[in-house]
Amino acid sequence: MAAQLGNLFILAAPSGAGKSSLIKALLEKHQSADHYPMQVSVSHTTRAPRPGEEDGVHYHFVSRDQFEKLIEQGVFFEWAEVFGNYYGTSRVTIEQTLHLGIDVFLDIDWQGARQVKKLLPDAQGIFILPPSTQVLKERLNKRGQDSEEVIAARMLEAVSEMSHYAEFDFVLVNDDFATALADLEAIVRGQRQRTVKQKMRYPDLLRDLLGDQSTDAA
Ligand code: 5GP
Repeated sequence: MAAQLGNLFILAAPSGAGKSSLIKALLEKHQSADHYPMQVSVSHTTRAPRPGEEDGVHYHFVSRDQFEKLIEQGVFFEWAEVFGNYYGTSRVTIEQTLHLGIDVFLDIDWQGARQVKKLLPDAQGIFILPPSTQVLKERLNKRGQDSEEVIAARMLEAVSEMSHYAEFDFVLVNDDFATALADLEAIVRGQRQRTVKQKMRYPDLLRDLLGDQSTDAA
């Protein structure tokens, strides 16, 4: 897939790193800003909805059979089995949104990130780390829904996910939320000013400033 005007950002993190809160805060901040349009991709999953989760908002909840049919139909840009459930990103939505110049955030795991990087090397991977094992443990405990055993299993899953941090282009340490949010925003803004994107965004300006030479610029 060729690079589009919109940027594709892959966000990965262990559970408890604060990834969802960071994406939510970033999108809320930019919801009304026309010059930085962005949205988060809604994945399909076979896992059961958690309390408060809405179909079509947090995920498209489907059965294993339905998911396997969608795989066969080539609907997914990437998909993976994560902790016993299928998760996947729809191809059409991503392509159409990027084409419109809207930045898209994928909240996916390292397996999906690898597939996306292969298909679209222009995509930027961002890995979010918690500031310490102690804080991660506290954050996993704070969910208050699970037993010690489940929390210990989550810690193992977290370490397994974090072991892939070096495959990503950027690493954010989410110690202070406001700082991490500002750092995430800086990455996003920086990507938007890349020459390859500005050439697509400002063809008229470049023609106005440079005439015929606007297309010669390497
Ligand atoms: P949860 O079930 O807690 O919402 O998500 C579990 C894991 O699956 C998280 O690491 C999340 O980022 C990942 N995930 C969510 N959607 C997708 C997706 O579409 N593709 C892939 N590869 N992973 C996903």
